[in-house]
Amino acid sequence: MAEAKRDYYEVLGVGRDADEAAIKKAYRALAKKYHPDMNPGDKEAEKKFKEASEAYAVLSDPDKRRQYDQFGHAAFEGGAGGAGGFGGFDFSGADFSDIFGDIFGDLFGGGRRGGRGGNGPMKGANIRKSVRITFEEAVFGCEKELDLILKDPCTDCGGTGAKPGTSPETCPKCGGRGQVVYTSQSFFGTVQNVQTCPGCGGSGKVIKDKCPKCAGTGYTSNRKKIKVSIPAGIDNGQSVRIRDKGEPGMNGGPRGDLLVEVNVSHHPVFQRQDVHIFSTVPISFAVAALGGDIRIKTVDGDVIYTVKPGTKTDAKVRLKGKGVPSLRNSQVRGDHYVTLVIQTPERLSAEAKEALRKFDELTGNTLHQNDDAGDNNEKSEKKKKKGFMDKVKEVFED
Ligand SMILES: [Zn+2]
Ligand SMILES: [Zn+2]
Repeated sequence: MAEAKRDYYEVLGVGRDADEAAIKKAYRALAKKYHPDMNPGDKEAEKKFKEASEAYAVLSDPDKRRQYDQFGHAAFEGGAGGAGGFGGFDFSGADFSDIFGDIFGDLFGGGRRGGRGGNGPMKGANIRKSVRITFEEAVFGCEKELDLILKDPCTDCGGTGAKPGTSPETCPKCGGRGQVVYTSQSFFGTVQNVQTCPGCGGSGKVIKDKCPKCAGTGYTSNRKKIKVSIPAGIDNGQSVRIRDKGEPGMNGGPRGDLLVEVNVSHHPVFQRQDVHIFSTVPISFAVAALGGDIRIKTVDGDVIYTVKPGTKTDAKVRLKGKGVPSLRNSQVRGDHYVTLVIQTPERLSAEAKEALRKFDELTGNTLHQNDDAGDNNEKSEKKKKKGFMDKVKEVFED
């Protein structure tokens, strides 16, 4: 509790008179934004997620909310600390399952969190892997094969971990519940602190004779090849969830999921922002001035684009629908924005130089316009000009 805690209403961004629905709505939006599954490896997002979850746990519970309104954070300090994985805050009373069902249902096809502790069926842990793909693979989607080691229930003992012919026994320490309850006294009365049973690790069962094949773990590790279908439009850092390819569940619970983080390699020509692609294409001064056809590289192959006469450098061209497909609807594609940059010729033949001088004479005579500056201008004016030209020289000689 060393860090100053933010006000729970402020964390959720709701007023003190917000009703249940408003609190739920605010939390849902924050949870969706900061959930660790959506922000793998992002510590700041994880902190925000925990902060919002804690605020929601309190404000969604009428009793806790009343206590908080009356006493502030002090209402929950001391006694209950240390339980659960949420930085010391006890979440035992809060029910997040319907909210997570909502949030992850639409995104990942109904991924519901496993139950809380106990010896009931528990979903296995998720496994995280990463895969590197090219820019084009991210745009159009691809299939990748992952080589990984997965745990499977042991075939000799059927996953119980007990020597064939024997079976696991009920844990004497917790009576099979998988949890033990410690009671402590605090300013607000008796606090019950639920912890995973140290005798059985939460399974509620202990094994006397271990299965020799799996050494009592109930699992064997096997090398597997898993096909990952990466959808068109995926962006760097996003993850693909493959259901039921994580760690096996406990007590008959479903397997966890495999979360594959996608790392997209840089492209030498294209940059990407959301569904749009950006690139720069050099054009000659002649094409810019007179107009003409140029070839532009896109993810769909080269396109011929007709440059209008009198095009300025840094002109933007929008190639509609040549961007990245939307992850949600691959029929919808972003655009490709091209910046046309006029190239200055670096090496010219004597003939080309002569032609350019001739061209200049016909178009404003810029090469000679300052030849007689010294005769007409004031001395100070000349000095100033010279100073400026020196500066320009400095820049170019750098
Ligand atoms: Zn076994
Ligand atoms: Zn136990």
